[in-house]
Amino acid sequence: MSILVTGGSGQVGKELQQILPDATYISSNEYNLTVEEDVNTILETRFDTVIHLAAKVGGIIDNIDHPAEYFSDNILMNTLMVNYAVKYNVKRFIGVLSTCIYPDKVKSYPMKESMLHEGPPTPTNFSYGISKRAMAVHIDAVNKQYNKKYCYVTPSNLYGIYDKFDARSHFVAALVKKIYDAKKSGKNKINLFGTGKPLRQFMNAKDLAIILKRMVEEDITESFNVASDDNLSIDNIARVALKACDCQHMNIEYDTSKPDGQYRKDVCTKKMNSIFTDLEFINLEQGIKEVYNKLNERD
Ligand code: NAP
Repeated sequence: MSILVTGGSGQVGKELQQILPDATYISSNEYNLTVEEDVNTILETRFDTVIHLAAKVGGIIDNIDHPAEYFSDNILMNTLMVNYAVKYNVKRFIGVLSTCIYPDKVKSYPMKESMLHEGPPTPTNFSYGISKRAMAVHIDAVNKQYNKKYCYVTPSNLYGIYDKFDARSHFVAALVKKIYDAKKSGKNKINLFGTGKPLRQFMNAKDLAIILKRMVEEDITESFNVASDDNLSIDNIARVALKACDCQHMNIEYDTSKPDGQYRKDVCTKKMNSIFTDLEFINLEQGIKEVYNKLNERD
């Protein structure tokens, strides 16, 4: 079976390479997937399976500052990837979305897969959310019109040892870097954006990689949410991180002039757990400890 993985240099791509080494992994260095010719070139080499991880992904401030790029890059690469997968008769296509595609607010939580179109995504990453939601619509449409069994997964917020520790980092990597820097410079406090009140489901990128591998191996063609059932406040996660980094003595200061983002976006995991009855996710404290150790090793 020939498998193509886009976004191979990203944090999920690097996790997948560890457990699915025989697939072909590409990054934007080899193929810019917003360019039609590049998408045609890679897909005309004929793959049975495509796991489409590539996306323009970033933190809340970058999303607010560059909404046009988040929209157009993701719309272009997702639309081209799905269209050329159909053209070259790719048998299995797994699109990777994000819980940012769900409505900003719904009547009841956690959000089920069926609630996707019950309202607009949150304003802070509206263009990213809409662009990724559009891939769900596109894949459903292709299945209907061309009788395909393409699918998509919708993961919650991710963290992991391959996240970036610069301006592009996600919440957990940024948090661990702040703790690390405070420890190095002998400070006893860290500063976080917002109020600390929003709720988030965090999942290790390694857990998502395991699910993607199993989808290929077990021929799963359903679309579903992927998340841990733990829905913790940002403050709670920060305290878990302080413990994981052996820095419980540090104080947390909140900069409430910075945005909180969506208050909650927890998704329902019933469908995921009915497909995989034996899932065990990496414990958050343990996972954060690994991120901290990775940062230590790097410096
Ligand atoms: P990541 O670390 O930011 O990696 C993004 C990947 O996409 C990189 O390999 C990057 O290649 C590639 N890429 C970006 N623009 C491209 C372009 N124009 N052409 C070709 N490749 C391009 O992302 P991740 O965290 O692994 O996320 C993987 C997937 O999970 C994404 O679809 C994302 O939306 C989704 N997701 C992520 C999170 C999260 O918290 N990170 C949460 C839910 C869902 P280069 O390295 O060459 O730039």
